[in-house]
Amino acid sequence: MTDVLIIGAGPAGLAAGIAWAKTNRSVCILERNSTAGKKLLLSGSGQCNVTHRGTAEEFLQHYGSSAKGNFVKPCYLAFDNAALKQFFAERGVPLLEREDGKVFPKSLKAEDLLNVLLKEFKKSGGTLQTETLVRHVRKTPDGFEAETDGGRFRSQKLVIAAGGQSYPATGSQGDGFRFAAALGHRIVPPKPALSPVIVQNYPFGNCAGISLSGVPVHLFRSGSPVKKSCGDVLFTHRGLSGPVILDMSRSIEPGDILSVQMASPDKLPETLFTGRKTLKNVLLCSGLPEKLLLQLLDILRIPPEWPAAETNRAIRRKIIQHLTAFPFAAARTGDWNQAMATSGGVALGEVHRQTMASRLVSGLYFCGEVLDVDGGTGGYNIHFALSSGMIHRSR
Ligand SMILES: Cc1cc2nc3c(=O)[nH]c(=O)nc-3n(C[C@H](O)[C@H](O)[C@H](O)COP(=O)(O)OP(=O)(O)OC[C@H]3O[C@@H](n4cnc5c(N)ncnc54)[C@H](O)[C@@H]3O)c2cc1C
Repeated sequence: MTDVLIIGAGPAGLAAGIAWAKTNRSVCILERNSTAGKKLLLSGSGQCNVTHRGTAEEFLQHYGSSAKGNFVKPCYLAFDNAALKQFFAERGVPLLEREDGKVFPKSLKAEDLLNVLLKEFKKSGGTLQTETLVRHVRKTPDGFEAETDGGRFRSQKLVIAAGGQSYPATGSQGDGFRFAAALGHRIVPPKPALSPVIVQNYPFGNCAGISLSGVPVHLFRSGSPVKKSCGDVLFTHRGLSGPVILDMSRSIEPGDILSVQMASPDKLPETLFTGRKTLKNVLLCSGLPEKLLLQLLDILRIPPEWPAAETNRAIRRKIIQHLTAFPFAAARTGDWNQAMATSGGVALGEVHRQTMASRLVSGLYFCGEVLDVDGGTGGYNIHFALSSGMIHRSR
């Protein structure tokens, strides 16, 4: 019988493994894949945005609601962004804070962070059992039993760190929710989060890959404002993505309008439309990429080579209006294969926030994305995965 059995070798499971192994308990992590941390390796386009600059107060605002921020608080305070930086730097992987506050390994290799976690876990005496798919878990009189492809594993304590449901090819396919439910926990229905938005009759498919930075975006529902934000927007083949859209996706419903200010009104005074320049050349002063401008003129059926001075007021207004508030009608947010995180999961009211221990089942713990916690873009999810695993250390 192992002291602690952990399901999942993502950042949360590895951090919990390190924490538990330091308490001189025998620890075994069961991982379905042949290697650990498949999703971590994909994170931040392989560079891993592991945390973010900010005070505790600022940091905790990125979990969707003050109740969620409150739940995350003890984990965060026990392993904050400074502690996280120190943890990796002391193990030979210094981190780098970008101007926008996002923190990455200096090497820009997610692999380096994963190797620190694996090495530390191994050094602490833990065992990682890969290619071991856990099929069922159950409570026994003296602990837990996990049924796997490779036989049954028994333990005194069980940590569910099986992640959420997004990017299922990485191994997190919602099994953690099933295990928690089987042990009596309530699951807040999982939904894709941090997801791109598919746009109805999207006219910018040929502009896929173009990104605009620092763009104000307003979200409207039935004509009323719902939310506004500002950040980078990426045009995709079927709609919009980029940090500001991913963060907003939590609030977006089919039929909502995303009004995107591609160009600032200051850069487009009506007086610009004078002289002998063509419309296209005049509009290039807005700083927008030519391909995007040509597509916009095409949508409005306005020839780009028209002399700007010959356009009438109605046409100028139409162009300015579309450039400063282009209305994209949301068809839906992306599915599990496109979402970077999962909202929903193990209901927080049934988990002690100081320890991540179940309030219902003695000896049962959770950490990471299996919990009903999802952060915004910027390193908040991996930070939570690590800190919610690390908090097991002191208990
Ligand atoms: C493309 C992409 C980019 C991202 N970029 C960032 C970023 O830059 N910054 C950031 O903060 N967040 C990012 N995220 C989110 C972040 O990666 C996750 O929130 C984080 O990995 C969650 O950690 P976790 O350990 O809880 O779960 P996971 O990393 O999903 O790990 C869970 C592990 O459990 C294993 N498992 C599941 N079920 C079983 C089972 N039945 N038996 C055995 N093993 C099982 C899985 O194989 C997996 O290895 C990104 C996500 C994606 C998809």
